[in-house]
Amino acid sequence: MAASSAEPVIRIRDLTRVYRMGDSEVRALDGVTLDVAPGEFLAVMGPSGSGKSTFMNILGCLDRPTSGTYVLEGTDVSTLDRNERAGIRNDKIGFVFQSFNLLSRTSALENVELPLLYSRKHRLSDAGQLEKARGCLAKVGLAERWDHTPAQLSGGQQQRVAVARALVNDPAILLADEPTGNLDSRTSDEIMGIFQELNEEGKTVVLITHEHDIAEYARRVVAFRDGRIVSDDVVKERRSAKGTR
Ligand code: ADP
Ligand code: MG
Repeated sequence: MAASSAEPVIRIRDLTRVYRMGDSEVRALDGVTLDVAPGEFLAVMGPSGSGKSTFMNILGCLDRPTSGTYVLEGTDVSTLDRNERAGIRNDKIGFVFQSFNLLSRTSALENVELPLLYSRKHRLSDAGQLEKARGCLAKVGLAERWDHTPAQLSGGQQQRVAVARALVNDPAILLADEPTGNLDSRTSDEIMGIFQELNEEGKTVVLITHEHDIAEYARRVVAFRDGRIVSDDVVKERRSAKGTR
């Protein structure tokens, strides 16, 4: 997507993250520079140890860089303290994890509602929260299962709940870390189809994966090696999950 006129959602300059352990240090990220425009669907690839998780933790405001800058929707988040990052995280980032990370004794609907309880930007009534959460479950095709707990849902359905939860706060970016890592290939295709639909509606999606097949659902692929970007390409033969739902 050539959105050169739009302000980037993500603007990263010379991002470096050094882990120190005793006398040794690891440069997990080493001078990464990258812009992501609104409405992009970016896959971040790379072998184990290349810095993907470190990058995701910084993008998700769970960690901050040793040096360099990260500007998210116009706010420089690279220098914020823990509390400030937590606020930004809840307002601007929707996480989807490999292991779903749902609360196990809690219904699908309550799992989806949870981020609204901490929201600084939405101050909805109880009824408003319910309606918002139900709308997000409907978006991922789970409207009828709202009262099921995670144990009563398949892996694919649990991941749909997690996607609904990630959407409920209208985040600036959806950040998915190996979201299909625990799913079979057919279910993976369905989940990637949901990300594609959301992206077609304008959501910015950043997907971390080590699988080429999964990266091909994105529009753009950035590859990491030893903490550096080694390639940045448009996906030419994009996979489409259309018609599989
Ligand atoms: P990936 O997710 O691509 O496998 P990581 O970001 O987890 O890569 O790791 C990048 C490098 O940083 C690796 O060499 C890893 O051993 C190192 N590393 C990651 N996390 C830590 C940590 N908390 N402390 C020390 N070294 C770390
Ligand atoms: Mg990792």
